Amino acid sequence: MAKKDYYTVLGVARNASQEEIKKAFRQLAKKYHPDKGGDAEKFKEIAEAYEVLSDPEKRAQYDHFGHVGPEQRFDFDLRDFRRAREAFEEFGFGSAWEDIFDAFFGEGLRTRQTRERRRSRAQRGEDLEYRLRINLEDAALGTQMKLTVPRQALCTECDGKGMAPGSGRVRCEVCGGRGELQYRQQTLLGSFVNIRTCERCRGTGELIERPCPRCHGTGRVKTESQLSVKIPPGVETGSRLRLAGEGNAGTEGGPPGDLYIVVEVRPHPIFQRRGDDIYVELPIRFTQAALGAKVKVPTLNGEETLEIPAGTQAGETFRLRGKGIPRLQGWGKGDQYVVVKIEVPKSLSKQAQELLRQLDEELQ
Ligand SMILES: [Zn+2]
Ligand SMILES: [Zn+2]
Repeated sequence: MAKKDYYTVLGVARNASQEEIKKAFRQLAKKYHPDKGGDAEKFKEIAEAYEVLSDPEKRAQYDHFGHVGPEQRFDFDLRDFRRAREAFEEFGFGSAWEDIFDAFFGEGLRTRQTRERRRSRAQRGEDLEYRLRINLEDAALGTQMKLTVPRQALCTECDGKGMAPGSGRVRCEVCGGRGELQYRQQTLLGSFVNIRTCERCRGTGELIERPCPRCHGTGRVKTESQLSVKIPPGVETGSRLRLAGEGNAGTEGGPPGDLYIVVEVRPHPIFQRRGDDIYVELPIRFTQAALGAKVKVPTLNGEETLEIPAGTQAGETFRLRGKGIPRLQGWGKGDQYVVVKIEVPKSLSKQAQELLRQLDEELQ
């Protein structure tokens, strides 16, 4: 089924302010609350819409690419509506968030997760974000870059297990080995049976007897990894590139997270980018404009010759077809536009002055 437009879901205009978006989300979240017979799918839908539209970067991407872009995709873990949860905290019923989740997605989900975790202990590593500033040429033509990425790698001392050699596991004394704590909670939004993952053993029900001295039991160590990254032609500020498995290492045999490269393109001294097109200002002499001339124009791929017809006016624009930026979203390239600027000399030789006087008389 096609996903609904996020703006429609929240019932706001495409140019709605962050404040309006937050307000709309708050009202809908109340309306679809489980106590009022809310609908889990609907609730998830509005939380997801809010998650994207409340983040200026994600919102810009969404405006640009829609639900699915070439390199990016909004993947949501049900438990990971970070911004929605923050908004809830701001409304003053932050603790209710977890309860809402339990009411909707069930003890079921939480308990299942706990059990799974207890069985395998494995946890996926965190996703990482790397902000990469590049120049316009590299963004336009694509490039290969070497990056130094600080991240958590598997501890080689203990092979990621977190245990000192010869050490084993003991039962967690906080949860008695169950991995979870159960209690009833009265909140602003009603009463819920709450099952919380034991924080001491992180739901595993077990603790390491003697932790690995190198990673202190985490199974991971901080490193700086050298990565070679291919930047595709056509990226722009806000483009996100996903490098699967290049995030933090997982724990206890869990898979690694992903690394997201977030591109920022530096402004260029002469080229101006508008979408896939490039604009450049070209200063010419007024005599060239009057008589016509062949002039050299800088482009992203080196110099091009442009023929300016006689009688060209200041501000006139010429198009160099296909000399813009390759389209990230498909075939072809943008164009380059050359905007003529006519330069009037600030100082003239005696002879030039004489010639111009003659010309001036001729033109009267
Ligand atoms: Zn270790
Ligand atoms: Zn425990």
